[in-house]
Amino acid sequence: MGVIKLLDAQTADKIAAGEVIERPLSVVKELLENSIDAGATFIEIEIKDGGVGLIAVRDNGCGMAKDDLELAFTRHATSKLNQISDLNKLSSLGFRGEALASIAAVSQVEMTSALKGSSIGHKISLTIGSMPVITEVAASSGTNIEVKNLFYNIPARRKFLKSASYESGLIGELISKYALGHLNIRFRLINNRQVVLDTAKMNTAEERLSYFYGSEVQKHVITVPKVEFAPQKFLQMYLLRETVSRNNRSQEIFFVNGRLIKSTALSLSLEQGYHTLLAKGRFPIGVVILDLPGEQIDVNIHPSKLEIKINDFEKVKQAIVEYTSDALWQASISKNAFLLDDYRPADDSKSGYVASFKDKQDSEKNIEDKPSLAKGEYASLTEIKQKILNKEEFPPKEASEDKAFAQINNEKPAEKPLDLPKTLFKPQEVQAKAKSEQVATFKKEPPKAVQVKDVEGLTLLAQLNNSFILAQNKEGLYIIDQHTLHERILYEKFMQAADEKQIVSESLLIPVTFNLTPKQESIFIQCIIYLRDLGFVIEEFGDRSYLLRAVPQGLAGNEDLAQLIIDLIEDLGAEKNITISRLKEAVINQAACKAAVKARQPLDEKEMLELLSQLNLVANAHTCPHGRPIFYKISMKELYNIFKRGAYPYD
Ligand code: ADP
Ligand code: MG
Repeated sequence: MGVIKLLDAQTADKIAAGEVIERPLSVVKELLENSIDAGATFIEIEIKDGGVGLIAVRDNGCGMAKDDLELAFTRHATSKLNQISDLNKLSSLGFRGEALASIAAVSQVEMTSALKGSSIGHKISLTIGSMPVITEVAASSGTNIEVKNLFYNIPARRKFLKSASYESGLIGELISKYALGHLNIRFRLINNRQVVLDTAKMNTAEERLSYFYGSEVQKHVITVPKVEFAPQKFLQMYLLRETVSRNNRSQEIFFVNGRLIKSTALSLSLEQGYHTLLAKGRFPIGVVILDLPGEQIDVNIHPSKLEIKINDFEKVKQAIVEYTSDALWQASISKNAFLLDDYRPADDSKSGYVASFKDKQDSEKNIEDKPSLAKGEYASLTEIKQKILNKEEFPPKEASEDKAFAQINNEKPAEKPLDLPKTLFKPQEVQAKAKSEQVATFKKEPPKAVQVKDVEGLTLLAQLNNSFILAQNKEGLYIIDQHTLHERILYEKFMQAADEKQIVSESLLIPVTFNLTPKQESIFIQCIIYLRDLGFVIEEFGDRSYLLRAVPQGLAGNEDLAQLIIDLIEDLGAEKNITISRLKEAVINQAACKAAVKARQPLDEKEMLELLSQLNLVANAHTCPHGRPIFYKISMKELYNIFKRGAYPYD
């Protein structure tokens, strides 16, 4: 006896139209959710050509009887809902009974399913324009659906898709997120015959987080165990400490009753919980799992069920803010108590990391007796990667031979912006000495004036709270943001060097490893060649793991190069089309920002004058590459106004 029923017309009318199949990702999401609804503990997703060639989803869930298999592809046929009021006690992800019908309308589908405990199942084949064919087959319990030739009958939709690697990146990202919200399910993703993701034997959030974000994050995970923050409302969180962050919101992951959702309001609550710990423009990484009574949420408001409505939303938001900030606070206290941990020799953890990584790779190889790679997209990408990453000589020739950059380095100190951060950083005594000298200098002679474009004769006054340079001319007071100013100077220098192909690599003493999510990797692969041209030397280290061996000059002193690369990739991921010039701009932006003097860095008079004088050389002296202002001017007129001195008489 089947369990699927056709919704009556009134019920169907009340359900918002949905399940719009936009791209391969939408198919994967619907099929994944069906497998979760079927109670599967193992879900394998296989894709080819970014999902256009094939999307297969295999699960060990409850399976379907023959009648259901036939009915499942009819619109508004579902086993999850009878009447609209059932939405109030919904425990499944699906409820509209539309997904399979929508998928079958834009592809060729075959589905094999056998009920739990049965070794005989049924297979249905559907192609538009012909009658469905059902046959009895031997099958293990569970369901196996294969979607081929997506959008073969809608060429316009196909045209709208991006590259196969982009589409498969989106799919990988979705699966990794689901894997973080459903710890009891093993997820495996195969892309063009290669296992790219497998959570076998990883049953804790910590294990999965470190699998996706790199093993170093393990010690940064903070767990907020399940709490009942209001009657029948539960919250559970896995947060990464503020030490690991992103430059966008994409890793703020929310589940409500098992459903992955998007919500700006919830994102803002999470961010508020991190308040003051993260710099502006930085976003946390965290998984927030909410369980709320069914009647308090409305899932029937968004075509792909990505957004939901939550009753008494304020309480939920407040709980996220409070539990997040409490957990971070607790973690910071315990971190200080065990400060020694952080001083363990880095080698220990590194060798452990490599060993465990190798184990993982080996076990992966055992899982699949891989035949030689198919001539698919992934095979060719692997080839490209190998060619670029492994076979090329290292270090690159230009590194030692580049004369142009050497020239820049031989210039006199005032024109050596690339070295500024190093020379600016001094041990305390030296700084103290510099300060006393500075005081003396001020006594002896008035500081020289600096000529800046559009600004006449600036005289240096002082540094304000180690963050701003104060200067004056006859028009008034200038407050100059030292970081922004230096960033602009470096940006233009780097840009010019890149335009003249004068970029050189600087080898790192200790190579830096970084781990990418499948989506990040797909972006990364697209720009590997350009990154090399810009002076990065990168080696493949394992699946989705890379070694950074050299970086463009000026970046090597950067504290967190792995973060820099990831920020760069995330920046590029937001772009519709990645072009060389866009990549160059992004690299240079990052390089300039990271290499520039920071706020709260004491500068002596000479250093400030040096910075100010370079301002004259740059083309845009008014804003940094991010568009922030460099100057703030308070004119004498304004000062006269503020102090109620009447009109300024010396204009
Ligand atoms: P919905 O999930 O909204 O009910 P679908 O079109 O996605 O609609 O699926 C229709 C029905 O097919 C489901 O209600 C369910 O009974 C059945 N079904 C789909 N996929 C599976 C699966 N993997 N395992 C068991 N049953 C499934
Ligand atoms: Mg469904």
